[in-house]
Amino acid sequence: MNVKNKQKVDLINNELEKLPIHEHCYFKPESILFSDEVRGLCEKNSCGMYGTSWACPPAVGTMEECKEKCFRYENAFMFTTATEMKNSFDIKGWHEARIKHEKLTDKVADLFRKEYENPLVLSTEGCTLCAVCTYPDSPCRFPERMYPAIEGYGILVTKQAEFCGIHYNNGPNTVTYFSIIFFNNCVETAI
Ligand code: SF4
Repeated sequence: MNVKNKQKVDLINNELEKLPIHEHCYFKPESILFSDEVRGLCEKNSCGMYGTSWACPPAVGTMEECKEKCFRYENAFMFTTATEMKNSFDIKGWHEARIKHEKLTDKVADLFRKEYENPLVLSTEGCTLCAVCTYPDSPCRFPERMYPAIEGYGILVTKQAEFCGIHYNNGPNTVTYFSIIFFNNCVETAI
């Protein structure tokens, strides 16, 4: 790693320590576990988000295009938040945890954007920033805060988490959300 890049990584890591990240891992995009089945669930609209925003299929492109976008980058950084719920029916708690996770993703994305050009940020369950999405009639209102869904890219989060040594499930009555940031430049710690 060159000195300049080490300084950037140290700077980011120092800032990351101040944020309420539950677990994180640097890894190489070539180790990403893509799954036709995951993408297929999107296309069957299993979560109800298919075709509703710029953050989900089909707007994010075909699975091949999604893979190609990921492979343009040399490194990836995955992180989670884990939030306790009152019980498994705590819809309000789930919603609040999701908002908290997306706000944290904004902060983490900004850290990487300051140091690296044009990182790709993927997050959780599509985009719900606007009450009514502009899709498909006009461009996204907030492209900097619109994070395509990890599953929409066909990434098998359960196995990717295992590969990265991150817990997919943090126990009963908790919700765990994931984000991944792709960026260019060498990171020594990536697996
Ligand atoms: S930021 Fe708004 S316009 Fe853009 S994808 Fe999300 S909901 Fe749609």
